[in-house]
Amino acid sequence: MQDLTEGVARFRQDVYPAKAELFAHLAATHRPTTLFISCSDARVVPELITQSEPGELFVIRTAGNLVPAYAPGANGVTASIEYALAVLGVTEIVVCGHSACGAMTALAEGHDLSGAPVVAGWLRHADAALARTAPGDVAALVRHNVLAQLTNLATHPSVARALAQQKLTLRGWVFDIATGHIEELDTAGTGAAPAA
Ligand code: ZN
Repeated sequence: MQDLTEGVARFRQDVYPAKAELFAHLAATHRPTTLFISCSDARVVPELITQSEPGELFVIRTAGNLVPAYAPGANGVTASIEYALAVLGVTEIVVCGHSACGAMTALAEGHDLSGAPVVAGWLRHADAALARTAPGDVAALVRHNVLAQLTNLATHPSVARALAQQKLTLRGWVFDIATGHIEELDTAGTGAAPAA
């Protein structure tokens, strides 16, 4: 799309009327069932790859789909997680990594990030995943990173509570941009799987 204004006009004219009833319902209702956490990467579009309608996904997107482990104090990611669980009552969280992730590539290949110091600092939340990955293996790091972020998620009190009450399922996905394939990862051992 070249021009956002053109896109908005097309939405108003063609797309919105077809979904007018849905939007009228959603105007007073917000009950998503899934918290979807993905990378900010423009090629990963949660609603498109899951074919979800407006109102169905509560979305957090961060560089590298990183979820910092819980620490007391307010930040945007933690607040959105807590809101999704404690207020909206979502019953499923998906952490979705993807192929050719710039963040994971930079880490796996040891790129110089001195020109982006905040990015470099943020990517430290992938240190545990990096420690498990052979140098240069981007695809493995993408997978290890999704699992590590599920482990981080489980440290958030709102998530821990819902898991303890068996009201929540955590899932790890990897989206392959070239093929459109979505791989479901085995979450055993992340703290995300229910205790046996
Ligand atoms: Zn990415």
